[in-house]
Formats: sequence, C-alpha cells, structure tokens
Amino acid sequence: MLETGSEAGEVRKFCLSVPGIDGASELETESVIIPMRHRTGPSRTLCVSSQVGCAMGCEFCETAQMGLMRNLSPAEIVSQWWCATHTLGERISNIVFMGMGEPLDNPESVIGAIEILTDHRGPSVAMRRITVSTVGRIDGLELLREQMSRPGWKQLGLAVSVNAPNDEIRSRIMPINRAMPLGDLVPVLEGWPLRSGSAICVEYVLIPGVNDAPEHADELAALVRHVRCCVNVIPYNPRRDSPWPAPTEQACWEFLGRLESRGQFCKLRKTKGRKTMAACGQLGNERIRRRRFVELTTPADAGP
Ligand code: SF4
Repeated sequence: MLETGSEAGEVRKFCLSVPGIDGASELETESVIIPMRHRTGPSRTLCVSSQVGCAMGCEFCETAQMGLMRNLSPAEIVSQWWCATHTLGERISNIVFMGMGEPLDNPESVIGAIEILTDHRGPSVAMRRITVSTVGRIDGLELLREQMSRPGWKQLGLAVSVNAPNDEIRSRIMPINRAMPLGDLVPVLEGWPLRSGSAICVEYVLIPGVNDAPEHADELAALVRHVRCCVNVIPYNPRRDSPWPAPTEQACWEFLGRLESRGQFCKLRKTKGRKTMAACGQLGNERIRRRRFVELTTPADAGP
C-alpha cells in the first residue's frame, strides 16, 4: 500500500498494488478517505474503486483517460476498506463506490464486496452507510434492483451521475447517454425502491460553459421532478489537460439558487483534495495510464 497524497485536515489518497491481467505486471487501485462534518460530529468517508481505469469515457473525468484496464474482485474492493481501517488506522463510517471505475460495469464484484462489507462476522458496515454511484447503466441498475428484495438491501444508497439537463449535452460529455438516454434512465429512477425518508443522490458536475446556464437549472428541475432525489451540485475539478476551468463559487451558488427556486432540493458538494488530484473525477494514475491493456470502449460503441 502506498499513501500518495494528503492535505492537512483534508483527504488522504492511497494506492493498492494489484496484478495486471497478464498476471505478471502490476496495476494500482486508488482510494480516498474524506473527512466529513455532520451535526452529530466528524466522520470519515471512504471512496473505493471498483475497476482499474474505466471504460465509460466521461469527458470531464481523469480516470476516463486511462481506459479500462480490468475489473477488481470483491476481495480487492474490500482490501481498500481493510487498508484504510487497519493500515492507516482510520475509523470509516461511510463507504461510497465513487473511486475509479463504473461500479455497475462490474456489478457482480460490487455486490459481492457489499455482502462482505456488511457481514456481521466481518467488517459489519451498515448497509445504509454504503452508496453505489453509477453513471446510469440501466442494465446494472436492474441487477442492483433485484438485490433490493434481499433483507437489508433496501437501505443501500444510490447516486446517479446525471450531469446534464438534456440528451444533447449529456451525450457530448457522457458517451453512455448515446446508448442509455435520459428518457430511459429517468423512469428507472422514478420507480427506484427507496427506504422511507431517503432519496437518490442526483450528481451534477457543474462545468463552466457546458451545463451551468440558468435555463439548464430549470430544465434539470423539470427532468427530475418525479424522482425522489437531492441534486448534489459538484464544482468541476479540472482533470489534466482539461478544456474547462473550475466554476467560480458564485456560479455554483447561483445554479443552486435557481434549482431551489424551481422547488428542487439540492446541495453543493464542498471540494476537497483538488491539490493532490484526489477530488471527484480526478483519480487516475499517469504511470499506469502509459501501460494500457484494454482500449477504451463505451456501451455506445457496443450498440444498444
Ligand atoms: S466519471 Fe465515473 S463512470 Fe465516468 S469515466 Fe469517470 S470513473 Fe468512469
């Protein structure tokens, strides 16, 4: 295990070494520990990777630049929790599948890892403290939905990266949308089996000049009006060679204000770890990127 960055009182980023698909070479997973502050006191959230690299090709994401190298096994996912807890000595209260990779591109391992993480004879993490974040893979969502009938699984949190108010913008920044457009995704979210009092987290990376206009906020509020959700506005964290800058704080608050004025419950995610490339959308190891094994493919390439 290698700790690759930390900022005082802020995030800790660490890598675990895993074998490459040829069995001889070496790859790395990346995980981030994020300190949070709640009404009840401080806590630590662990952001885990489910793949090395990612095949989804989102334009705003550092990991996408790597392409997919391989899926992680349930054991390799759980190892990230083990290292955070036992090697780094952090007390982890929440786990989010928001690190490298699209969790629902590797659903069997993710489901297997959740089974282990919540096992009372092992890590014993409460299901309601785990969130799976997806780019909106409808096939994977259907698989996950099947799990919801199992005891306790309805407590699992769901976050979905929407990031655009319409198909035109979304297809430009998220290739998945060409195969699984909003018209198919939103009804799945509307019918999602939520536990009482909970909501889906609709993630919206705010990118200057792309999806940050006031009318985009109006369109987004209309798009998700029947989804029980909180829109989490995430200020864009520039990846390497990014064509866009980060939004100003004022632009973020204006977008949030506009959503609120349309009756949409929303929050602004505080940016943490940008300096150490540990912030949302910034994971991706340049060293590994030079050793690409699998060319970048998207569901759009494979056809619907
Ligand atoms: S945002 Fe998520 S799904 Fe999209 S390329 Fe990055 S890691 Fe993959």
